[in-house]
Amino acid sequence: MPRIECDLAVHNALIIDATGAEAFPGALFVKDKRIAAVHRGPAPEFSAARAIDAKGGAVLPGMTDGHWHPSYYNAKAIADLDILSPIEETMIHAVRHCQLMLECGFTMALCAGAHHRIDVALRNAVNAGEIPGPRMLAAGRDICCTAGLTDWNPGWWKLGLEGLTIIADGEDEIRKAVRLNVKETADVIKLFVSGEGASFNCNQYQLTCTRAELDAFVDEVHRRGRLASVHVRDRLGSRWCAEAGVDIINHATYADDQTLEIIQEKDLTLVPALGYIFGVFERGEQFGLDAAFRKASFAQEDRDSGCEVIRKARRLGIRVVTGGDYGFAWVPHGEYARDLKYLVDHMGFTPLEAIIAATRHGAELLRMAGDCGTLEAGKAADFLVVDGNPLEDISILADRRRLAYVFKDGEAVAHGAASAARS
Ligand SMILES: [Zn+2]
Repeated sequence: MPRIECDLAVHNALIIDATGAEAFPGALFVKDKRIAAVHRGPAPEFSAARAIDAKGGAVLPGMTDGHWHPSYYNAKAIADLDILSPIEETMIHAVRHCQLMLECGFTMALCAGAHHRIDVALRNAVNAGEIPGPRMLAAGRDICCTAGLTDWNPGWWKLGLEGLTIIADGEDEIRKAVRLNVKETADVIKLFVSGEGASFNCNQYQLTCTRAELDAFVDEVHRRGRLASVHVRDRLGSRWCAEAGVDIINHATYADDQTLEIIQEKDLTLVPALGYIFGVFERGEQFGLDAAFRKASFAQEDRDSGCEVIRKARRLGIRVVTGGDYGFAWVPHGEYARDLKYLVDHMGFTPLEAIIAATRHGAELLRMAGDCGTLEAGKAADFLVVDGNPLEDISILADRRRLAYVFKDGEAVAHGAASAARS
């Protein structure tokens, strides 16, 4: 075999290429920001500007958060998101979260809504190389009907919800709201279809838009070549979203078997975004989300049914992508990789399947599969060098000290204990 000339060689590695193949000992070579070769077995002779001995640790593609709110700032209550931080400070938080994403090994993110057009600005700045951050699809403001989930400010406060949401009712207003986001160059546009247990005015079993409003939304989003996304938990609402061909169905907590079959047939994507609800159980108490709250908000039902739906989705071969609604005090930014552990511990995924959900399926979700998501020659050099084997213990991916290096476009953007110590 001829000597390999490259910019970077990572050798003595356990390669998890996320194509679906079993992991294998090998080496990865990078040239001109792209993967030049992935080699099985002992590394051939090479000359590289930089060489990293992975010491038997895993090398895998950069991960994806499929439900990311970069501008959420770990607020202690949902309603605080809108009112406690001025937009300028919120923007600074969001820039920090972009850096944090990389430090956590996440090189791709699909936004599920942001204040104003913060994520559009982030995406543009990352793409221009002005700030560090993941490859990103921006969402801009979510769309919500009056008295829907994010229309939470009481009327007598005389406050709208300008920053976080566009309140729209009826097909024409929904179409206009979509167009406002298109005008701001959003890539993906999200509508609230059902409520949420934590909401004071609409629980997860209530539909907050009509079928006609949903259909108008999907039609308008697709007319403009964007991706349609929804927040939905209710059974009937989940059916509507599947039938309407929503590209990204977030939660689908109570979806029935027929709905899952439609999702599978239409090749739509499910993002469980269950990190939030696990966080309510694991750490909610200290933020006032006590037993009474959990009961009143049907948290147990959400967790149990949400996990069961994803177990079925896995069996049906539906594309499931990690993404956990991080950005609240009980599920703070920086814990994105806990989603992989939840898939393994509670939803029947093998560690390799969880990694594929976060990598290959993430790239497919972002429509970047030609360039990202697997370790194959020709793709962008976005990968992690891990201290250990996540196939034996998936939780090490959630420990930033164990991410020896995070590479994006062949450049080390974070590494090991240094990145953990900074946050
Ligand atoms: Zn969300």
